Amino acid sequence: MEIRTRFAPSPTGFMHIGNLRTALYAYLYARHSGGKFILRIEDTDRERYVDGAVEVIYNTLRTAGIEHDEGPDKDGGCGPYVQSERKEIYKKYAERLVELGGAYYCFCTKERLESLTDANGVRKYDKHCLNLGKEEVAARIAAGEPYVIRQNIPATGKGSYTDLVYGEITVDYEDLEDNVLLKSDGMPTYNFANVVDDHLMGITHVIRGTEYLSSTPKYNLIYDSFGWKRPQYMHLPPIMKDEKRKLSKRYGDANFEDFVKKGYLPEAIVNFIALLGWSPKNNTEKMNMAELINSFGIEGISKSSSIFDEVKMRWLNCQYVKELDLQTFNRYAVPYYEKSKVKGKYDYMKLSRILSGRTEIFGDIPDHVNFLEEYGPFDVALFEHQKTKTTREIALKAIDGALSALSGLEEWTNDGIYALLGGLCEGLGIKKGQMFWAVRIAVSGREVTPGGATELAEILGKEETLRRLEFAKELLSNR
Ligand code: GLU
Repeated sequence: MEIRTRFAPSPTGFMHIGNLRTALYAYLYARHSGGKFILRIEDTDRERYVDGAVEVIYNTLRTAGIEHDEGPDKDGGCGPYVQSERKEIYKKYAERLVELGGAYYCFCTKERLESLTDANGVRKYDKHCLNLGKEEVAARIAAGEPYVIRQNIPATGKGSYTDLVYGEITVDYEDLEDNVLLKSDGMPTYNFANVVDDHLMGITHVIRGTEYLSSTPKYNLIYDSFGWKRPQYMHLPPIMKDEKRKLSKRYGDANFEDFVKKGYLPEAIVNFIALLGWSPKNNTEKMNMAELINSFGIEGISKSSSIFDEVKMRWLNCQYVKELDLQTFNRYAVPYYEKSKVKGKYDYMKLSRILSGRTEIFGDIPDHVNFLEEYGPFDVALFEHQKTKTTREIALKAIDGALSALSGLEEWTNDGIYALLGGLCEGLGIKKGQMFWAVRIAVSGREVTPGGATELAEILGKEETLRRLEFAKELLSNR
């Protein structure tokens, strides 16, 4: 049997990390077994529809490297793959389900439905229209009376199924409601469309969030009424922001796009998301898409929720950034230089050379380079350094020596500057570590910098380096 999974997003805005994980697992599961991964757009809730959201779905999947085999743009013979284009199909099946006794027409008005609300604000439909005669129904429809079609859930009994992640799930029918399957505008609800589509599209494994775990027995009743084979189910544990709160759109930082904008690499985000609720047998953490496909399996999916740990995501991203060649690093970094104070001022490739081994996410770049343009008075105590035993006197000696030597240097390169400064030390009676410490503090005014003294000097250029050394010398002399 060919495995067919699907991702069925609703176009309601940005792609939430939880949704992307569902897509990823469905994709990995299909690819792992050589099966098919289908994209279906669930746009029947017109009130929640957001313009442009379908584009976001396509772009996100493309950027994340999750490639569908069938979908609105790739016909595989099960289309249309957009629910709003399948209205006639749902109508036909809803009518059929009525004939089979699995559903019924309901003409109850809004007022009547509201009157069913109990003292606790809970409302459950009372099957009022279940026993209307066939002729009465036909007459009322012919008279143009608005109606919906509701599922006929047995008043007693239990529904059970085995979820591949959570095991045996049993629900009392008593706790379920005769939900609307087809709305008065002719559009289906999720409760109906998911079943009809999953069946007609030959979905063998339904992979989705735990919010559907306990409504699945309701869907199974529909499969059973039609005599259709139920699919296998894999419900996925929630992703939490912390111990208490679910990761949610409300926090604003839970979208794939936001992380891309923050300067995470898509492959690192995907790798990180894969590990939110699943772990491979050997507990490897860094895995590219091919490796994920290879090792993905149900046995590694956890039942408990996982916490979205951005510190870990940064760490993982850093592993990917370190592997980029300099050109590629620079290509990703340029937009962030352009957003920083160094915009248009330095050779970006040189900046990239010092940042490439030290960057966790590209969004940190402005913070790492802005200091180049923020030079000004700083605490002279920074020159004192225990490890190299640098004192202010030694620093002054180093800077003085560096100033006179560097002013005569023609070829202003990292190597050239390094050799020249290194060569001065013996004559000045100081150590190399002291020289480079003093010069780095002098040209940056900071204790921590990405890159050493001579790398910074090369980037700053001769004139600016000499100006800063003068400034530092002044600072050290005016104690
Ligand atoms: N459109 C549903 C959602 O976005 C899909 C759920 C499912 O995968 O069945 O929640």
